[in-house]
Amino acid sequence: MEKIDNTALFKIGYGLYVVTSKQGDKDNGLIVNAVMQVTSTPNRVAVAINKLNYSHDIIKNTGVMNVNCIDTTAPFSLFERFGFKSGRDTDKFNDLDFSRSDNGLAQLNGNVNAVLSLKVETYTDLGTHGMFICSVSEAKVLSENPTMTYDYYQNNVKPKKQSEKKKGFVCKICGYVYEGDTLPTDFICPLCKHPASDFEPIE
Ligand code: FE
Repeated sequence: MEKIDNTALFKIGYGLYVVTSKQGDKDNGLIVNAVMQVTSTPNRVAVAINKLNYSHDIIKNTGVMNVNCIDTTAPFSLFERFGFKSGRDTDKFNDLDFSRSDNGLAQLNGNVNAVLSLKVETYTDLGTHGMFICSVSEAKVLSENPTMTYDYYQNNVKPKKQSEKKKGFVCKICGYVYEGDTLPTDFICPLCKHPASDFEPIE
Protein backbone atom coordinates (compact mmCIF):
# COMPACT_ATOMS: atom_id res chain seq x y z
CA MET A 1 0.00 0.00 0.00
CA GLU A 2 1.13 3.52 -0.78
CA LYS A 3 2.74 5.21 2.20
CA ILE A 4 1.59 8.60 1.04
CA ASP A 5 -1.99 9.09 -0.01
CA ASN A 6 -1.92 12.58 -1.47
CA THR A 7 -5.68 12.91 -1.03
CA ALA A 8 -5.04 12.88 2.73
CA LEU A 9 -3.53 16.32 2.26
CA PHE A 10 -6.83 17.54 0.80
CA LYS A 11 -8.29 17.13 4.29
CA ILE A 12 -6.37 20.19 5.46
CA GLY A 13 -8.84 23.08 5.60
CA TYR A 14 -8.18 26.31 3.72
CA GLY A 15 -9.74 29.67 3.12
CA LEU A 16 -9.41 31.71 -0.06
CA TYR A 17 -7.85 35.14 -0.26
CA VAL A 18 -7.20 37.92 -2.73
CA VAL A 19 -3.64 39.04 -2.06
CA THR A 20 -3.05 42.55 -3.40
CA SER A 21 0.28 44.23 -4.07
CA LYS A 22 1.56 47.21 -5.99
CA GLN A 23 4.58 47.91 -8.15
CA GLY A 24 4.97 51.64 -8.81
CA ASP A 25 1.44 52.76 -9.64
CA LYS A 26 0.30 49.37 -10.97
CA ASP A 27 -1.96 47.34 -8.72
CA ASN A 28 -1.89 43.59 -8.85
CA GLY A 29 -3.73 40.79 -7.08
CA LEU A 30 -4.11 37.05 -7.10
CA ILE A 31 -6.04 34.28 -5.38
CA VAL A 32 -4.16 32.34 -2.74
CA ASN A 33 -5.24 29.61 -0.33
CA ALA A 34 -2.02 29.23 1.66
CA VAL A 35 -2.56 31.94 4.28
CA MET A 36 -2.20 31.13 7.96
CA GLN A 37 -1.72 32.99 11.21
CA VAL A 38 1.29 31.21 12.69
CA THR A 39 1.87 33.19 15.94
CA SER A 40 -0.09 35.76 17.93
CA THR A 41 2.49 37.45 20.22
CA PRO A 42 3.41 39.19 18.05
CA ASN A 43 1.03 38.48 15.18
CA ARG A 44 2.74 36.67 12.35
CA VAL A 45 0.98 35.54 9.20
CA ALA A 46 2.51 33.15 6.66
CA VAL A 47 1.60 33.44 2.98
CA ALA A 48 2.95 31.08 0.29
CA ILE A 49 2.87 32.21 -3.34
CA ASN A 50 3.85 30.33 -6.48
CA LYS A 51 6.96 31.87 -8.03
CA LEU A 52 5.31 31.76 -11.47
CA ASN A 53 2.84 34.41 -10.32
CA TYR A 54 3.72 38.02 -11.05
CA SER A 55 2.65 38.94 -7.49
CA HIS A 56 5.45 36.81 -6.05
CA ASP A 57 8.11 39.08 -7.54
CA ILE A 58 6.26 42.28 -6.67
CA ILE A 59 5.87 41.28 -3.01
CA LYS A 60 9.47 40.11 -2.81
CA ASN A 61 10.59 43.51 -4.14
CA THR A 62 8.23 45.76 -2.19
CA GLY A 63 7.90 43.80 1.09
CA VAL A 64 4.19 44.54 1.56
CA MET A 65 0.85 42.98 0.68
CA ASN A 66 -2.82 43.03 1.67
CA VAL A 67 -4.70 39.83 2.39
CA ASN A 68 -8.39 40.30 1.49
CA CYS A 69 -10.38 37.48 3.11
CA ILE A 70 -13.00 36.30 0.60
CA ASP A 71 -16.46 35.66 2.04
CA THR A 72 -19.28 33.45 0.83
CA THR A 73 -20.95 36.29 -1.14
CA ALA A 74 -18.17 36.18 -3.74
CA PRO A 75 -19.25 35.16 -7.27
CA PHE A 76 -17.21 32.96 -9.60
CA SER A 77 -16.28 36.10 -11.56
CA LEU A 78 -14.08 37.26 -8.67
CA PHE A 79 -12.06 34.05 -9.02
CA GLU A 80 -11.86 34.48 -12.78
CA ARG A 81 -10.69 38.06 -12.37
CA PHE A 82 -7.92 37.36 -9.89
CA GLY A 83 -7.20 33.67 -10.32
CA PHE A 84 -7.19 32.78 -13.98
CA LYS A 85 -5.32 35.65 -15.62
CA SER A 86 -1.89 37.15 -15.25
CA GLY A 87 -1.42 40.72 -14.04
CA ARG A 88 1.51 40.86 -16.45
CA ASP A 89 -0.89 41.40 -19.33
CA THR A 90 -4.27 42.36 -17.82
CA ASP A 91 -5.51 45.03 -15.45
CA LYS A 92 -7.29 42.98 -12.80
CA PHE A 93 -8.72 46.12 -11.17
CA ASN A 94 -10.62 47.37 -14.21
CA ASP A 95 -14.24 48.18 -13.14
CA LEU A 96 -13.63 46.83 -9.63
CA ASP A 97 -14.91 48.57 -6.49
CA PHE A 98 -11.91 49.00 -4.18
CA SER A 99 -10.29 51.52 -1.86
CA ARG A 100 -6.87 51.75 -0.23
CA SER A 101 -5.54 50.81 3.17
CA ASP A 102 -2.93 52.96 4.98
CA ASN A 103 -0.08 51.22 3.14
CA GLY A 104 -1.50 52.40 -0.19
CA LEU A 105 -2.43 48.94 -1.42
CA ALA A 106 -5.81 47.95 -2.80
CA GLN A 107 -8.55 46.77 -0.47
CA LEU A 108 -11.65 45.20 -2.00
CA ASN A 109 -14.96 46.83 -1.07
CA GLY A 110 -17.16 43.81 -1.63
CA ASN A 111 -17.11 40.02 -1.21
CA VAL A 112 -14.47 40.13 1.51
CA ASN A 113 -15.02 40.09 5.27
CA ALA A 114 -11.64 41.39 6.43
CA VAL A 115 -8.43 42.90 5.18
CA LEU A 116 -4.98 42.46 6.70
CA SER A 117 -2.08 44.70 5.73
CA LEU A 118 1.13 42.74 5.99
CA LYS A 119 4.80 43.61 6.06
CA VAL A 120 7.25 40.88 5.06
CA GLU A 121 9.64 39.97 7.88
CA THR A 122 11.27 36.86 6.43
CA TYR A 123 11.25 35.09 3.10
CA THR A 124 11.87 31.38 2.62
CA ASP A 125 12.55 29.81 -0.76
CA LEU A 126 10.42 26.65 -1.01
CA GLY A 127 11.40 25.72 -4.57
CA THR A 128 8.19 26.20 -6.53
CA HIS A 129 6.87 28.74 -4.02
CA GLY A 130 8.14 31.57 -1.86
CA MET A 131 6.96 31.72 1.74
CA PHE A 132 6.51 35.15 3.27
CA ILE A 133 6.34 35.42 7.07
CA CYS A 134 4.78 38.78 7.85
CA SER A 135 3.91 41.18 10.63
CA VAL A 136 0.50 42.86 10.63
CA SER A 137 0.42 46.65 10.21
CA GLU A 138 -3.35 47.11 9.90
CA ALA A 139 -6.34 44.77 10.24
CA LYS A 140 -10.03 45.51 9.71
CA VAL A 141 -13.27 43.55 9.73
CA LEU A 142 -15.39 44.56 6.71
CA SER A 143 -18.44 42.33 7.12
CA GLU A 144 -19.80 39.50 9.22
CA ASN A 145 -20.34 37.19 6.24
CA PRO A 146 -18.74 33.77 6.72
CA THR A 147 -15.26 33.22 5.28
CA MET A 148 -15.24 31.27 2.04
CA THR A 149 -13.47 27.97 2.50
CA TYR A 150 -11.89 26.03 -0.32
CA ASP A 151 -14.57 23.35 0.15
CA TYR A 152 -17.34 25.93 -0.15
CA TYR A 153 -15.78 27.20 -3.38
CA GLN A 154 -15.60 23.68 -4.83
CA ASN A 155 -19.19 22.83 -3.87
CA ASN A 156 -21.06 26.11 -4.35
CA VAL A 157 -19.14 28.56 -6.51
CA LYS A 158 -17.17 26.73 -9.19
CA PRO A 159 -19.43 25.94 -12.17
CA LYS A 160 -20.33 22.26 -12.46
CA LYS A 161 -18.46 20.28 -15.05
CA GLN A 162 -20.00 20.35 -18.50
CA SER A 163 -20.86 16.93 -19.87
CA GLU A 164 -19.27 17.48 -23.28
CA LYS A 165 -17.27 14.48 -24.40
CA LYS A 166 -13.68 15.58 -24.51
CA LYS A 167 -10.77 13.27 -23.84
CA GLY A 168 -8.24 14.63 -21.44
CA PHE A 169 -7.71 16.05 -18.00
CA VAL A 170 -9.43 18.84 -16.14
CA CYS A 171 -7.88 21.17 -13.57
CA LYS A 172 -9.72 20.68 -10.29
CA ILE A 173 -8.95 24.24 -9.29
CA CYS A 174 -10.13 26.30 -12.26
CA GLY A 175 -11.67 23.88 -14.75
CA TYR A 176 -9.03 24.26 -17.49
CA VAL A 177 -9.12 21.28 -19.85
CA TYR A 178 -5.96 19.65 -21.18
CA GLU A 179 -6.78 17.55 -24.22
CA GLY A 180 -4.73 14.38 -24.74
CA ASP A 181 -4.27 10.80 -23.60
CA THR A 182 -1.58 11.48 -21.02
CA LEU A 183 -0.88 14.52 -18.94
CA PRO A 184 2.84 15.38 -18.69
CA THR A 185 3.91 15.04 -15.03
CA ASP A 186 5.53 18.47 -15.09
CA PHE A 187 2.43 20.09 -16.60
CA ILE A 188 1.38 23.38 -15.01
CA CYS A 189 -2.11 24.78 -15.48
CA PRO A 190 -1.77 27.82 -17.75
CA LEU A 191 -4.68 29.53 -16.01
CA CYS A 192 -4.18 28.99 -12.29
CA LYS A 193 -0.58 27.64 -12.24
CA HIS A 194 -1.47 24.53 -10.27
CA PRO A 195 0.57 21.39 -11.03
CA ALA A 196 -0.41 18.13 -12.79
CA SER A 197 -1.38 16.62 -9.42
CA ASP A 198 -4.37 18.99 -9.34
CA PHE A 199 -5.75 17.53 -12.59
CA GLU A 200 -8.14 14.61 -12.92
CA PRO A 201 -9.09 12.56 -15.98
CA ILE A 202 -12.34 13.52 -17.69
CA GLU A 203 -14.79 10.65 -17.36
FE1 FE B 1 -6.12 25.51 -13.21
